[in-house]
Amino acid sequence: MPALAVRQKTLKTSISCTGIGVHSGSRVTMWLHPAEPSSGIVFRRSDVGGVGGARIQAEWRNVANAKLCTALGEAGGPQVATVEHLMAALCGCEIDNAIVELNGPEVPIMDGSAAPFVFLIECAGIVEQPAPRRAIQLLHRLSVDGGDGRVVSLTPAPGFSASFEIDFDNAAIAHQEYVISVHPSTFKAEIARARTFGFAHEIDGLRAAGLARGGSLENAVVISGNRILNRDGLRYDDEFVRHKILDGVGDLYLAGAPLLGHFHGLRSGHSLNHHLLRTLFARPKAWRYVELAVDRLVAPAAAHPALGAYPAAGD
Ligand SMILES: [Zn+2]
Repeated sequence: MPALAVRQKTLKTSISCTGIGVHSGSRVTMWLHPAEPSSGIVFRRSDVGGVGGARIQAEWRNVANAKLCTALGEAGGPQVATVEHLMAALCGCEIDNAIVELNGPEVPIMDGSAAPFVFLIECAGIVEQPAPRRAIQLLHRLSVDGGDGRVVSLTPAPGFSASFEIDFDNAAIAHQEYVISVHPSTFKAEIARARTFGFAHEIDGLRAAGLARGGSLENAVVISGNRILNRDGLRYDDEFVRHKILDGVGDLYLAGAPLLGHFHGLRSGHSLNHHLLRTLFARPKAWRYVELAVDRLVAPAAAHPALGAYPAAGD
């Protein structure tokens, strides 16, 4: 490993929190545990799957549903829903390896943002591991057009950055755009506290469909007409677009490694984010694995036995 190599990180110790699932409405306890180098983020459902529980790797291949939230697991098998805000916190805090143990089907929504998970990770502490940190370096621009003016793209860039634009026919949101270079300090200060949001007129329909059972003003910004119902208002004037970046950061961490590239979203959501990842991995010439160095220069990664052989550069 080069002297200036960035090392992988995990948690120093285990830590837990309890909350409700925003869609299931059920109470769930979540533990974050340290994990072995190069093991990635792994979800474990302790309430199903017998001894040791059911294990689901936090990877794009395992996305089971991405309509209103991102759910992982196999169709008909155990699933874990609403992983995106936790994944954003793990990405933002640069945690490579962790076991996320849950005794229910959904990550607790907490306050609807990633801030409680950042707090939890910081309370547990972060430790470096001996293995070098690898990233996915974009070599070509990729974009996915979802129709109706919804587009997502990834463009080569020296670090990980993100921008987003939303346009709602609603005076409380209207047009918002935001751009950020994603590092632990910027993620925590500018993005982590942005909450999920929804419209009051959609809540009855969602509940009738068995969704948003745990949703409330405690864990979402709720808009009725052109008015924000939360008594304390917004955390940022442009909280909505910041939350869309938070979702994008979390969804893209399902690449299984940090990205060296710029993510842009235009009026998009979880489905298009995952479509973008599937497009990326279907085009091996569009990216390569690299080992990160402290000075942000990168070198092509050597094969790592725990992760299998990497594709050759430009493959
Ligand atoms: Zn969200």
